[in-house]
Amino acid sequence: MTTLLQVKELRVYYRTRRGVVRAVDGVSFEVNEGETLAIIGESGSGKSSTVQALIRMFPRNVHLVSGQVLYRGVDLLSLPESVFNREYRWKKISIVFQSAMNVLNPVMRVRDHVSELIQIHTRLSARDGLKMAEELLPKLGLPPSVLNRYPHELSGGMKQRVVILLALLLRPELLILDEPTSALDVITQANIMNLLKRLKWDYKISMIFVTHDIALASDIGDKIAVMYGGQLMEIGDADTILREPRHPYTRFLLESTPRLRGEVKLTFIPGTPPDLVNPPPGCRFAPRCPYASDKCRSEEPPMKNGVKCWLYV
Ligand code: ATP
Ligand code: SF4
Repeated sequence: MTTLLQVKELRVYYRTRRGVVRAVDGVSFEVNEGETLAIIGESGSGKSSTVQALIRMFPRNVHLVSGQVLYRGVDLLSLPESVFNREYRWKKISIVFQSAMNVLNPVMRVRDHVSELIQIHTRLSARDGLKMAEELLPKLGLPPSVLNRYPHELSGGMKQRVVILLALLLRPELLILDEPTSALDVITQANIMNLLKRLKWDYKISMIFVTHDIALASDIGDKIAVMYGGQLMEIGDADTILREPRHPYTRFLLESTPRLRGEVKLTFIPGTPPDLVNPPPGCRFAPRCPYASDKCRSEEPPMKNGVKCWLYV
C-alpha cells in the first residue's frame, strides 16, 4: 500500500491567559491511499487541533507548531502559504466540519458557492465548475435544482451534503471530516455515513474521520486512532482495536459504548480529562487508570507497536 500522509511528532500549542495549552503533543500516524483513519477520543482530547493542522488552519493564538506533515513526502508545514494554497488546499486535501452553517454563506446560492470555489482555487470557468458539480450531485443524492437554492432552503442533511460536494469538487485525494454528522438527527446521520462509504468505494478517496462516537468510527474506519489528552494512546487496524483493545483508555471507551457490545449499562470513566496547561507527568491517563504504577505517574510511556502504555513495553 502506498503511504499518502505521514504525520510525525506533531505538536500544536495555544497561548491562553492561563498558560500554554498543549492541545496536540507529539502525535504520529500514517494514512495510506484509499484508507480511512478514524480518530476518536473525548471532547478536548485534541482531535480537531490535529486535523486542522493538517490543512494549516491555526487560530490566532497558536503558540507553537512543530513536527512534520508529509504528504507524498512533501512537508506541508514547511511550505510557503502561497504554495500550500495553490497546490494542496481543496485540491489535494479538503475538510468538512460539523456545522455546515459555518461554511455556507446565507446570501449565496449553492451555485454561487461552486463558482466562488472554482474561481478562487483554479483557472477554470464558473461554467466548468458547475458542470463538475452537476456530475457529483447524483453521487451525493442531491437533485440538480439544489444548485439554485439558498442555504436556508435546504434541510440540515442537504446542507451537509452540499458542504461535502464543495469539499469533493476539486477531486481531492484526502478528505478530512471533523464530526461531520454530530449536528444531525440519527436517520440523517445514517444516510450521510452510507454516502461517505459509497464515496470511499467509488472514488478510492482517503479519509480522516474525527468523532467521539466509537460506533461511527468502527462503521467507517479501516484504522482507528484513539486520542487522549493531546496524545495518541493506541492506533491500529479497526477490527483488532475493537476485538482486542489493549490500552486501558481504549478498553474504557469500548465498555462505555453499549451499541457495540449489546450492553444496556454505560460504564463511565471515573475522573476528568487532563488539564492540557499542566498535564500530569508520566502517562496522561495515569490519574484515571486502575493499573497506574509509580512508573506510570513519573515516566511517559513510549508508543510501541501501536500502544502507548507501560503495560505493553
Ligand atoms: P471536541 O470534540 O470538543 O472538538 P477535540 O478533541 O477536537 O474536542 P480540540 O478542539 O482540538 O479537541 O481541543 C484540544 C484542547 O485545546 C482543548 O483543551 C481545548 O480547550 C483547547 N483549545 C482548542 N482550541 C483552542 C484555542 N484556540 N485556544 C486555546 N485553547 C484551545
Ligand atoms: Fe495505565 Fe500506566 Fe498504561 Fe498509563 S501507562 S494507561 S497509567 S497502565
